[in-house]
Amino acid sequence: MTETSIEPDDGGAAEIGSVSYVRVAVPIPLRAEFDFAWSSELGNAVLGTRVRVPFARRTLVGVVTEIDISTAVAKSKIKKVIARLDAQSIYSSELWNSLRWASNYYQAPPGEMLFAALPKLLRDGKATDPEGETWYTANDLGSVDSLQRAPKQRQLHTFLLERGAVGANATILNASMQGWRTALRELLNKELIRSEQRSIEISVNEKPLRLIDLNDSQQVAVKAIAQVGQSYFPFLLHGTTGSGKTEVYFDVMDQVLACDQQVLLLVPEIGLTPQLMERVASRFSCAVVMLHSGLSDKERHLAWAQVNQNTARIVVGTRSAVFAPMRALGLIVIDEEHDASFKQQDGVRYNARDFAIYLARQWDVPIILGSATPSLESLSNAKRGRYQYLSLKRRAGGSKLPDVEIIDMRKAPVENGISLQMITAVSERLVRGEQSLLYLNRRGYAPVIYCNSCNEGAKCHRCDAYLTLHKSRQQVRCHHCGYQGVFNTECSNCGESGLSSIGEGTQQLEQVLEERFPNATVMRIDRDSAGSESKLVEMLDAVQSGAVDIILGTQMLSKGHDFPNVTLVGVLNADQGLFSSDFRGAEHLFQQLVQVAGRAGRRQVMGQVLIQTAVPDNPFFGFVAAHDFDSFSELQLSERELLRYPPYEQAVLFRAESNFPGNGLGFLHKVRTWLKQRIGERAVRIYDPVPSPMERRAGRYRAQLLLLGADRKYIRELVGDCCAMLETDRASRKVRWSVDVDPVDTY
Ligand code: ADP
Ligand code: ZN
Repeated sequence: MTETSIEPDDGGAAEIGSVSYVRVAVPIPLRAEFDFAWSSELGNAVLGTRVRVPFARRTLVGVVTEIDISTAVAKSKIKKVIARLDAQSIYSSELWNSLRWASNYYQAPPGEMLFAALPKLLRDGKATDPEGETWYTANDLGSVDSLQRAPKQRQLHTFLLERGAVGANATILNASMQGWRTALRELLNKELIRSEQRSIEISVNEKPLRLIDLNDSQQVAVKAIAQVGQSYFPFLLHGTTGSGKTEVYFDVMDQVLACDQQVLLLVPEIGLTPQLMERVASRFSCAVVMLHSGLSDKERHLAWAQVNQNTARIVVGTRSAVFAPMRALGLIVIDEEHDASFKQQDGVRYNARDFAIYLARQWDVPIILGSATPSLESLSNAKRGRYQYLSLKRRAGGSKLPDVEIIDMRKAPVENGISLQMITAVSERLVRGEQSLLYLNRRGYAPVIYCNSCNEGAKCHRCDAYLTLHKSRQQVRCHHCGYQGVFNTECSNCGESGLSSIGEGTQQLEQVLEERFPNATVMRIDRDSAGSESKLVEMLDAVQSGAVDIILGTQMLSKGHDFPNVTLVGVLNADQGLFSSDFRGAEHLFQQLVQVAGRAGRRQVMGQVLIQTAVPDNPFFGFVAAHDFDSFSELQLSERELLRYPPYEQAVLFRAESNFPGNGLGFLHKVRTWLKQRIGERAVRIYDPVPSPMERRAGRYRAQLLLLGADRKYIRELVGDCCAMLETDRASRKVRWSVDVDPVDTY
């Protein structure tokens, strides 16, 4: 340790003590860390602890990333750490190593990466242990005559008295009487009741559900995973929807929990449905913590602490739950590993699945990636022997995969966008008292407003996108920037009042269906109708109870939900994904169709899937109809290999946007020139910068530059150096730029 006496602080009293230097990462969008002086009065400096530091005339919370460094900053210039906030690192060494790796791999600012792993209250500098909860109990003083003329206080006092030593907290009081806070204050003043802090406990399920006997292929999978014991190994569990993957996870989880270890179960954003939560909560008799977007900051902090203290045994959560502060991790499970929601699309652009793989290696524990339609990345890893491939071929409950039929929309008789065959199939379900699910991939298929006089569609004034008509509210909306306006029938282009809508959105289809099937109950489930979590739960309950005949919905419905009485799934429009400019378009569409088809016939009755398309001869639909994901993925992989696209080469996408047209493109041209000079004869493909598929969004012009190469280590160095150059270059301040390593969406 370098010991020097420090200069007196400006205006402060002179201090004598020993000083060393530490490096600190602060949450700012720069790929840099900063040096500070650490005086011995603070105790020992510890890696991974939070500190308060002066930074650009503010005080920031940062994390110590290196201790006992020698600094290049002049002694007269260096600032002092103001306070230390933790005694020990708030990251396990496994998580720490993974976060440090990720910030390097994803070119993420180190401070932002470390902070991404913390709940907001910890980022703000709050203590790691959350405050307890306040409970109130009554003092039994016998005489409460003084409350004769205060009925509210009397009522509250009696209520608490009846609850005895247990007392009540705010939640209980809220549920039992109105306006209790004022009465409570008075009673506390009069010392008729008292308050105390109690730590918050996780409720534990006393009666775990009866176990299911696993079938042969499930047992093979469980055995294979158990065989590696407690060491790192990734498994790719490929099984159609309903093949019993979740039961396999559960069985392996049992074994891990029995060894007193923790389990991390990651699910896609849309997959964290109440159904799954309930299933986990009722299956295990241990403390389960759910991490999802619906939590308040306080709840998130509490959940973090429960995991950190090793009270929580199972953590179920979406993307960012991969950062949960596990203390005795024994297994990671990623359900629907192919899902795009595992990729964070802004800020720190990490992929939770890939992060989890790295994390599992750090912990030296097995990791299971489950999917009905594995990503091409994971399939190729399995082919190369890096992952062990396990498959469940049949549906577990004995039900058969649904029949898939392709409807040729060029020839079929059609009524308002629905083919006659589809209408007949729905009618049959109605007669039999079964449910139909009609699926519409709305993206780009919302009704567009169209002028019959000048043949122009109404566009958003801020985006290169058409406005969508929301008929029930007589509103137009832009689904890209969120713009909302009043719908008027005059064309802004030619002034004629002949505007009409084309294409079918869910709202219009709802109307069509209600007219066509006047005696049926139609329920539309999309982001507009199921705006809140509770509303969605209510709607799903209605479907479960059989109160609904026809369910009409978007992607929201395709995953995770189990609708036992649905025997028909109709896909109204599937083509858009096939003609997407994104090289993953077909892969994503196949995944979606398999997911939605998986909703049909989950029980005894054979399910049927009807898919409407204008390009029935495309080989894609042949694979879909035959449930032949293997051949589809073979073909996709060979195409990717030919084009040297991921997973055969690594992709990095530079993005830039600006309020002025051309700025982003100009910036990326300079980036390209820099990269070109730098690579020399190296085998790195650097494409020309192009405007993004939708160039203008929310008034900003966007452009992108794609780079591909097989030498990952070199690419990382190259892109890292490029980012460092751009950060110091004044010209790059004119645009907002970012870099996306392993992009999942190329726009
Ligand atoms: P997946 O996760 O692959 O979609 P699940 O594990 O959710 O499949 O199983 C689908 C349905 O089959 C569930 O209702 C589940 O309870 C049931 N199931 C799973 N395994 C078995 C089994 N071995 N025997 C009977 N039913 C099973
Ligand atoms: Zn817009």
